[in-house]
Amino acid sequence: MRVEISGVLLEIVKGDITSQPDVEVIVNSANRWLKPGGGVSGAIHRAAGPELEKECSKLAPIEVGDAVITRGYNLPNDFVIHVLGPVYGKDKPEDVLLSRCYQNALKLADERRVDSIAFPSISTGIFGYPVREASKVALKTILELIPTLKNVKKIRFVLFSDEDLQAYEDALSEILGEK
Ligand code: ADP
Repeated sequence: MRVEISGVLLEIVKGDITSQPDVEVIVNSANRWLKPGGGVSGAIHRAAGPELEKECSKLAPIEVGDAVITRGYNLPNDFVIHVLGPVYGKDKPEDVLLSRCYQNALKLADERRVDSIAFPSISTGIFGYPVREASKVALKTILELIPTLKNVKKIRFVLFSDEDLQAYEDALSEILGEK
């Protein structure tokens, strides 16, 4: 699914966040210590190589909602923006904290004059945020910020399963239909 809003292309695709060579920055759903771990973070660190963990160690720890930027090393992307999503049921209010992750990542990318960014579905894996709820928060946040962007021209959500893809597509249709 692709839509253009205020000159920015918003795409929702199924795929692997480490295989997005046509975007400048990918977002990592990181942990507080910016260690490899599992899920998205494990995959990104494996693909980037050990230099990423070295750079990350200088920036950790980060707080829930924070975003920090590193180089991409062996990834096909110039940069990685690492965010710490809320753990569902623990870090509250979850929706505000999740929204802050997307806001901070997108603002940081725009400040760095990045023109394209890919996000995974933050917090909906190990952190347990229900994907239907999370997708609405993610997309509403991005849609609100789009008119303020100066450099980012392409924003892609990369979902790992058909179910997650469907949730994001439904959420976008619902939000756009509301307007
Ligand atoms: P969190 O700790 O924020 O919940 P996870 O990495 O556990 O992060 O998962 C977030 C979402 O990303 C889940 O829906 C998971 O299925 C998905 N995911 C896992 N690996 C990848 C990958 N390589 N590319 C894109 N999405 C992925």
